[in-house]
Amino acid sequence: MADDNKEFLIGVDLGGTKILTGVFDARFELKGTAKLSTKADRGVEAVIERIARCVKDAVDECDLSLKRIRGVGIGAPGAVDAESGRVIFAPNLPGWKDVPLKKELEKVLDVPVFVGNDCNVCTLGTFDCEYKSKPKHLVGIFLGTGIGGGLVIDGELYCGHNLTAGEIGHMVIAVNGPKCGCGNRGCLEALASRTAIFRKIQSAVKDGQKTILTDMLGPELADMRSGDLRKAIRKGDKFVEKIVEEAAEYAGIGVANLINILNPEIVVVGGGLIEALENEIMPALIKAAKDHVMPGTMSGIEIEASKLGDHAGITDAAVLARRATS
Ligand SMILES: [Zn+2]
Repeated sequence: MADDNKEFLIGVDLGGTKILTGVFDARFELKGTAKLSTKADRGVEAVIERIARCVKDAVDECDLSLKRIRGVGIGAPGAVDAESGRVIFAPNLPGWKDVPLKKELEKVLDVPVFVGNDCNVCTLGTFDCEYKSKPKHLVGIFLGTGIGGGLVIDGELYCGHNLTAGEIGHMVIAVNGPKCGCGNRGCLEALASRTAIFRKIQSAVKDGQKTILTDMLGPELADMRSGDLRKAIRKGDKFVEKIVEEAAEYAGIGVANLINILNPEIVVVGGGLIEALENEIMPALIKAAKDHVMPGTMSGIEIEASKLGDHAGITDAAVLARRATS
């Protein structure tokens, strides 16, 4: 039985550059937030100390004490053993190899802590918060710097034998395609992530391709952001439009594979690229998915952009804590 006095939940969005925390009440309303830079280069212990501080700051912001907190959920950017709460590896957090994050935070906070991979946590949060009708099966795919995903099957997060399921970004789409950060070739992430799009644009510009982007950002295309691509496309830059469309098609082929294998009711597409370029990406992605699924298997399946806004990361992480403590 949950202790009625411990009615608040905390969600932590742990990123490579910033830590966000939010306190949610029994009705799952956001009562207060806090934010700290991650300072990942200071090492594992320093980051854990900063997560704890950011949790305490959010609690203090709400004039509460940690005694009123039922659980803390964390979405971490990397491979996570969700059962033991260990971060096995996190590419954007230097030194993070087999870190007992749950244990260390519970020692400091004296509150139950639950850790999950950020894309898995995001999929679970989307499932609980966005879909009141509760589809049984849902796939989440997140297009950003990399590509991550999560699988909800029969209403539960599917983690697989070694708890690494849902690595949608490393589905091989193009044999002999471009090299991926994982060491493989032709992964979806190497074809359709923001990094892949930027790399393609930069290499074409080096080869003499003309684009409005060089007028906007200079010949080196320094500090290019997803929003710059949107501006260029809206100004009529056909080259940028084509590169983004190609990436969207690759993502659509990935979605078709997932539909063929899992036949989910909903495929929800989110991440930084979708936030910036939803109108430019979604139509081409949906068309490519429809063109590549096995005939007859798309009936009643929706592919849609995620709607959760600014507080998605902390909300989804709090959902993890809510599920684990109720
Ligand atoms: Zn890969």
